[in-house]
Amino acid sequence: METALEQLKRSRAFLCLECGKCTAVCPISRANSQYSPRRLLAEGLFYGASDLASNRMLWSCLTCQLCSRRCPVDVKYSEFMRDIRAIAQSNGFLGNPSHGGAMHHIMEMAASPKLKQNRTGWITDDLKVKKTGEVLYFVGCLPYYEQLFGKDFEFSPISIAHDTVKVLNKLGIEPVVMDNERCCGHDLYWLGQLDKFDELGRLNLKEFEKAGIKKIITACPECAVTIKRLYPERLGQDGPEVAHISEIIAANKGKLRFKSSPQKVAFQDPCRLGRFMEVYEQPRESLSAIPGVEVREMAHNRRGAICCGTTNWMNCDATSKQIQRSRLSEANAAGAETIVTACPKCQIHFRCAQCGQEGDKINIKVADMVNVIASALEG
Ligand code: SF4
Ligand code: SF4
Ligand code: SF4
Repeated sequence: METALEQLKRSRAFLCLECGKCTAVCPISRANSQYSPRRLLAEGLFYGASDLASNRMLWSCLTCQLCSRRCPVDVKYSEFMRDIRAIAQSNGFLGNPSHGGAMHHIMEMAASPKLKQNRTGWITDDLKVKKTGEVLYFVGCLPYYEQLFGKDFEFSPISIAHDTVKVLNKLGIEPVVMDNERCCGHDLYWLGQLDKFDELGRLNLKEFEKAGIKKIITACPECAVTIKRLYPERLGQDGPEVAHISEIIAANKGKLRFKSSPQKVAFQDPCRLGRFMEVYEQPRESLSAIPGVEVREMAHNRRGAICCGTTNWMNCDATSKQIQRSRLSEANAAGAETIVTACPKCQIHFRCAQCGQEGDKINIKVADMVNVIASALEG
């Protein structure tokens, strides 16, 4: 187990110059002046991690890494937050989970080796999938989101899974879909629940090995970065190669036949796909492959993109709503009819922000990249 000093060295927190550039750029700070990453860092270094662990603001950080992009000494603030959250969890201090903690309970249950699941009921006869093989489509939490959010937000999260397989089949790929796949553990990692995260990682790696998987494709950037980076980091074991579906589509777009689908879209760079994995152009190239699609850029895009306003199903409040609405307004100002994202959670949060009174709604649709692409396919 890492010592506090080792943790500080890893996150480079002790190098902080107190310049405040992180606070200037942070979307939470811009919406809520009570929140300051510079101040939280200084308090943690001055008074010690245990004091900071009881601060409720700890759970507001989106771990979006926008601040780290601006930090002159490369302080890894998100990792500093994760380390303090782990201390807070062990001291019994928790933030304010959204939806009564439903998603957290599901993640924790998934870490039980005894859990038996039926996760493949959504697969329709028109889709070709296998039980074993070299390429896995890792579905992630979509079956759970379908139950929790499908009705309220007037969209079908599981349609993202359906359309991912549809696109892969068009490319001649018949992916493995596993009944016993577990949550990737992304949220538990960033909430500091590292024992449960490790358990999920071990269970998934075992299933990958059993099915003979060599390559994993996901339509969720959180699953992608977790399996690609965090499993090796925590478990010391390299898993299969990992790609987000946008990388697969962009690399093979010449093999797909599209009908004309005139529309103006703005792409929301999900933090995990963009700043974490440096995948910026592939979703834009994939969308632009559809005749008639025009990709408009929001004022904040690519490395400077702003998060969808809430993460890890924590501390969702008026600040989150303000960030979501400002992001939707940016897409609107760019002249887009639809804000397209490539992360199921971004879509859920944006749709939630559109659920208010009719007069509060921003005149823009929300969609997932895979759904847009699948609906434009010929045949
Ligand atoms: S930008 Fe970096 S150096 Fe400046 S206050 Fe923030 S963490 Fe410290
Ligand atoms: S990671 Fe994002 S939300 Fe957290 S302090 Fe940095 S900019 Fe703000
Ligand atoms: S924005 Fe997201 S986390 Fe917040 S209440 Fe809506 S669905 Fe839940």
